Amino acid sequence: FGAHTFRRTAFAGDYTGLEIQRTLVAKAEQLEVPILDHVYITRLLVRDNVVFGAYGFDQSDGTRYLIHADAVILAAGGHNRIWRRTSSRRDENTGDSFRLAVEAGARLRDPELVQFHPSGIIEPENAAGTLISEAARGEGGILRNALGERFMSKYDPERMELSTRDRVALAAYTEIAEGRGTENGGVWLDVSHLPRETIMTRLPRVYQTMMELQMLDITTEPIEIAPTAHYSMGGVWVRPEDHQTDVDGLYAIGEASSGLHGANRLGGNSLIELLVYGRIVGQAAMAHAAGLDAQRRSPEAVMRARAEIDDLLAADGRENVRALQRAIRNTMTQHAGVVRSDEGLRAGLADLDMIEGRMEDIGIHPDIAGFQDLAHAFDLKASALAARATIEAALERRETRGCHNRSDYPDTDPTLQVNLVWSPTGGVTHEPIPEIPAEIAELMREVDTEGKLVE
Ligand SMILES: Cc1cc2nc3c(=O)[nH]c(=O)nc-3n(C[C@H](O)[C@H](O)[C@H](O)COP(=O)(O)OP(=O)(O)OC[C@H]3O[C@@H](n4cnc5c(N)ncnc54)[C@H](O)[C@@H]3O)c2cc1C
Repeated sequence: FGAHTFRRTAFAGDYTGLEIQRTLVAKAEQLEVPILDHVYITRLLVRDNVVFGAYGFDQSDGTRYLIHADAVILAAGGHNRIWRRTSSRRDENTGDSFRLAVEAGARLRDPELVQFHPSGIIEPENAAGTLISEAARGEGGILRNALGERFMSKYDPERMELSTRDRVALAAYTEIAEGRGTENGGVWLDVSHLPRETIMTRLPRVYQTMMELQMLDITTEPIEIAPTAHYSMGGVWVRPEDHQTDVDGLYAIGEASSGLHGANRLGGNSLIELLVYGRIVGQAAMAHAAGLDAQRRSPEAVMRARAEIDDLLAADGRENVRALQRAIRNTMTQHAGVVRSDEGLRAGLADLDMIEGRMEDIGIHPDIAGFQDLAHAFDLKASALAARATIEAALERRETRGCHNRSDYPDTDPTLQVNLVWSPTGGVTHEPIPEIPAEIAELMREVDTEGKLVE
């Protein structure tokens, strides 16, 4: 993958995440861990800043679930589906982690740091942003503009297509913005010169996806791509040593969490983080649970969670949830995308005020097919919160750093090498970047520059 010092990506073809998921599910089944696959969590339950469970409903039949837990690990993903073109599937990564954590009393960190991956497909519209894995460039894919120029030679002549994602995304964005893009507003990613066997063994998912979505054979044709919102480096504020949030017993991991990747995640590091912190956080949550002598609950917290669903189910306004979700995605795309500015971000905030006003008048109508409409309403609340946090922090980060490009502040400002921490009441505050925990720093020293463990 791009910008690695040596070849070290852990992968299973380009189905790595799927393999991890299969293993995890198989192990959970083996240990007889109950899996509530259809339950949508609407609230984390907290008493005196200590978590004691979660509340939700079954998306197929509306059954309510009250789950008591001594510790909760929030792993509900990031917020990249609040942009129009995104690598996330429908109804995922709508910022649920952010809302659940903030309503539980936690804060967010660096929500403005969102990675735009250089290669999302453009068509069809309902699949816009679907990812073409970085493995395509890793295996030797070439980027060209509409004039046929291999444009990365202008932006990073040394690393070319294997530059960091932020640089490649900005390069593609610039080519398109300056009129050298394709008719559909993209650039070309070409792997057709690679041996067919490489494509079929290393890029089987890309091959299959392009066949299914566009009937395009990537062994002979280039792929039309443009930057797509892909990964939340920012997220819920967590302690670096064990990823506990501001709330006792509440942990966050993966895209829900923040801090590990700075302002620019390298390819492959998300799944590795999940493996490494899965273990660390699991152990910390277990120790927290074992250390409790009693679980103190709050009937009021449960009542509030219940009432929130009741109120939404009774909502019969004229505004459509899907239309409002689309409005947020349009606003974020227009005003808080790959390149941002003070003027654009302020326009984005004004749009958001208006959208939040319209959200007062939504109508929720579960039907015979299930309670998805209710889930979408909660997704909408989460997206609005995530969008506000993102724009407010993006306004405050008056510099260009990693994935965050400000046209009005094109340089990195050393005084802004800080975390921006957000809460709905406190707004944005600056915090020094925490030290790397001693044990992790020690481990890092033990790995030499070729990635080998030094005995
Ligand atoms: C096509 C593609 C290829 C990728 N390839 C790589 C790669 O090769 N290497 C790499 O390191 N990274 C890769 N990534 C990134 C990586 O897959 C993600 O960053 C990672 O899966 C994030 O994991 P997560 O557990 O934090 O969140 P997710 O995998 O997004 O999981 C969040 C889960 O929470 C559930 N959820 C959300 N809200 C609620 C709620 N309210 N109630 C109940 N459940 C909820 C969702 O349904 C989802 O199942 C890729 C991403 C994509 C899209």
